Amino acid sequence: MGGWEASTTGIAGGGVRWADRPRAVLCANLLAAAAYLGLGVVTDLFFRQYGFFPAPLWPAASLSVAAAMLLGWKAVPGLALGAFLSNLVVFEATWAEAAGIAAGNALGPVVGVRLALRLGGPLTRLPGLRPVASFALGAVGVHAAVSAGCGAAVLVIAGVVPGDLAVPVFVRWWLSDAGGALVLAPSALLWGLDRGFGAATRGRLMELVLVAAVTLAGGMALFIGVRFDDPANAALPFLLLVPLAWMAMRFLLRDTYTQFSVLVLLVVGGTVMGYGPFAAPGIDKPMLYVGVFIVTAALTVLSCGAQANDRRRAERNLRRMVDTLEQTVAERTAALKESEAQLRLVLEDAPVPLFVSSLRTHRLLFVNSRAERLLESPRERLIGVYAPTYWSQPEARARLIEVVARNGHARDVEVEFRRGESALVVLLSAARTVFDGEPAMVLGINDITERKRLEAELQRLAVMDGLTELPNRRHFLERLEAEAERARRYGRPLSVAMVDLDHFKAINDSHGHAAGDAALRGFAELARDALRASDVIGRMGGEEFAIALPETGLESAMPVMERLRELVAAHQVRDDDCAFGFTVSTGIAELRPEDDLSRLLSRADRALYAAKRLGRNRVAQEDEVDEGNPTRPEISCSA
Ligand code: GH3
Ligand code: MG
Ligand code: MG
Repeated sequence: MGGWEASTTGIAGGGVRWADRPRAVLCANLLAAAAYLGLGVVTDLFFRQYGFFPAPLWPAASLSVAAAMLLGWKAVPGLALGAFLSNLVVFEATWAEAAGIAAGNALGPVVGVRLALRLGGPLTRLPGLRPVASFALGAVGVHAAVSAGCGAAVLVIAGVVPGDLAVPVFVRWWLSDAGGALVLAPSALLWGLDRGFGAATRGRLMELVLVAAVTLAGGMALFIGVRFDDPANAALPFLLLVPLAWMAMRFLLRDTYTQFSVLVLLVVGGTVMGYGPFAAPGIDKPMLYVGVFIVTAALTVLSCGAQANDRRRAERNLRRMVDTLEQTVAERTAALKESEAQLRLVLEDAPVPLFVSSLRTHRLLFVNSRAERLLESPRERLIGVYAPTYWSQPEARARLIEVVARNGHARDVEVEFRRGESALVVLLSAARTVFDGEPAMVLGINDITERKRLEAELQRLAVMDGLTELPNRRHFLERLEAEAERARRYGRPLSVAMVDLDHFKAINDSHGHAAGDAALRGFAELARDALRASDVIGRMGGEEFAIALPETGLESAMPVMERLRELVAAHQVRDDDCAFGFTVSTGIAELRPEDDLSRLLSRADRALYAAKRLGRNRVAQEDEVDEGNPTRPEISCSA
């Protein structure tokens, strides 16, 4: 047999190799006819020898199933010819009767097999319940029904069998054909499909041998050389269904079915020879029992085996799925590894310092070479270090992690890093990632320490006078405004002193500009030392300074400025090879409720002018001005 698949495509009209070639089909038909005739004659002779007629088991039906599988409708001529001839020879029928019976014998298997294929598809390796059940229904049941129906009808019409016996004749004929089809066809087909070794392990082989031996021993014990007296023993052979079903569930259907076929030989042989429970006296039709046994056992084996096959297939599919899944996981893991390696490369080559830290352990997992340079430490020392230790404020890191957890990333966050003793101001961007299989955060760093320093310096320069490092005019006025505001709000006193170095032009002229600068710095220093921290000193321009004295009325301001004047007068400026002194003149005014800044300042200015006029190196207050010189415009002009 050329394999089940090839034969089934033949029946379905598909592209079969040899079944399409007319000569091959002719040969196959002739062969089928000859085999059918031969098998029919042998069967007939065998059963007749023991007094059975017509043959209670018709193995030629198996041949018909096989031929129908292989050739489909093209098998009809050969089967019809074989059946026609064997009917002539075996049954000694008339030509017309033989032709009628042969028509059923030829059409039955083809119709049945076509039906089986339509319902269940072709049998494949490890055939499942659907194809097997369809086979039993079509290739066996319907096949036998058509064949038996035709035969019984022909015999009744021909008058060979009385009409009232039509049903029993049909039933026995059906059993004969069904049994005949079940005896050989499935074994042959299954061996064609499963050529491998069924029991894979030693243990399973032992089990197979054991169950097969039990079945065989049971069959032999019942049917070889044993005569039964009680017809009730006819139930005993059905016990053999138990080991058969066991085998069918556990092993290849092919092996079980072969075992079954051997058992059938024993049952049929024993029974026709008068042995076994079916041949007990009192059993009228032993071969009817044989037929029922065969059909029952065959269907049990087929259904159990088919179910087991379905289960095996499901298990195999599951295993395949698991394998596929495992493979997918392995591939994904590999891909992840690769992408991680690529990530490392990208991080390494990034143009900014990068840090990757675990979000679980908060240890550093990776730093690139720029990060090494930033922290002035090799990566061997950095990897594994607890990341928050590099943060001046670890709580800032915790906040960043919160943002990253929420948004997946954060950008342009300004924080301070620790590098040994010094601090780094950095602008960082952060993103969540997975690194080495664990949740991590990658930080990109922009070191803005130097920029920050320059910014601070610019800021300082904007408000400071570069020479004396005192607040410049603008900054002083801002602070004075704030002090005036506060004094007004709380009704507190505030005085302002205007201080001008005396004859400064002369210092420049006789000692040089640098000496003049030194004198200015010297005054700034003296003033800073002499005054309270809350007092505000500003350089208003040239050699003119202003001092705001919060919480100080005119009366209190006088001695303060007087003390400063004395300090200045006692101070010596060191010039290259000589030393010189200088003096200051000071004018003081106190804030009045109706004052704005310019009025307050101009009163102080007038007082200063008065001090100058009165001879310099002295402190004058606004009252003196008012008394001494009521004509203010002139004074304010000269200031
Ligand atoms: P008076 O006693 O009336 O104040 O006389 P004075 O010479 O101090 O007054 P004047 O306003 O005529 O001269 C101020 C001089 O201060 C003019 C200028 O050259 C000088 N000067 C202004 N700013 C600076 C500076 O930053 N450094 C130096 N060395 N000299 C300065
Ligand atoms: Mg001046
Ligand atoms: Mg001056």
